[in-house]
Amino acid sequence: MHDKTTKLPLISPKKTLSNLSRTFIRNALITTGLSTIFMANIASANVDKTPPIKLYTFECGTIKVSDMDVFSSTGDYAKQEKTLSGSCFLIRHPKGDLLWDTGLSADLVGQKPIVNGVFTLTMAKTLPQQLAEIGLSPQDIEYVSISHSHFDHVGQLPTFKSSTWLAQKQEVTAMFGSQKSRKEFAALTTFKPKQFSGDLDVFNDGSVVILDTPGHTHGHTALQIMLPKTGPVLLSGDLYHQATSRDLKRVPRFNSDEPQTRVSMTRFEKIANKLGAKVIIQHEKSHIDSLPKLPKYLQ
Ligand SMILES: [Zn+2]
Repeated sequence: MHDKTTKLPLISPKKTLSNLSRTFIRNALITTGLSTIFMANIASANVDKTPPIKLYTFECGTIKVSDMDVFSSTGDYAKQEKTLSGSCFLIRHPKGDLLWDTGLSADLVGQKPIVNGVFTLTMAKTLPQQLAEIGLSPQDIEYVSISHSHFDHVGQLPTFKSSTWLAQKQEVTAMFGSQKSRKEFAALTTFKPKQFSGDLDVFNDGSVVILDTPGHTHGHTALQIMLPKTGPVLLSGDLYHQATSRDLKRVPRFNSDEPQTRVSMTRFEKIANKLGAKVIIQHEKSHIDSLPKLPKYLQ
């Protein structure tokens, strides 16, 4: 039901038939010695069509978990300790900037670690501080989107009220549908999201697509990005919290819907396989630590 992969741009522009035929024509022109003006035209037509997108990774908190039990419904992680990364991403596209996830609350910066049940939360820098390192401010960001509405992903969302919030319809309903939930998200009630259902092709060129992957929460989403050099990248949201969970398809106890999560995992893996995508699990410290640090980016 959620498998809409046929709508997605599954062929890398690098491998399209038209690129192959351009290479063939160019080679034919070289061997037949046609004029340099023809050569110049063909050379410009042969430029890779993937937009020059940049992917920046921001440190959006650290979550030390004293007992990982809640992260598997079958009890596999009972008594295990793990440090999860909080991560946020900026996708710079020629048509605008998209901030993906907003991490833990900025109130944590400069504070002692906050202990909340099995979680110990810390954060070194706010998103505005990290944006400043690359010469940007929150007002420069055209679009913001969250993988889902848990506290470690919406913490700094109120900072981006001048951006357009692209929000999955079911997630918006879960956030503001009842008096109790509205109270939880009180800081966001004046923020009017631009809602969508299913997938969303953010810049209408297939390069940045928000993927409908419900189950962790009712409107959970992941993100597909076509980078010009790295190639396709998938940001997991919290479809998986660690690499082991992806390998063994483990579902947290606190997910909204376990069967729906498994359908989303199948869909996500199908897309990852077809694209040959680099999968980044957003809470997996080893994945986040391997990415370029500011001001560097993935291209
Ligand atoms: Zn999370």
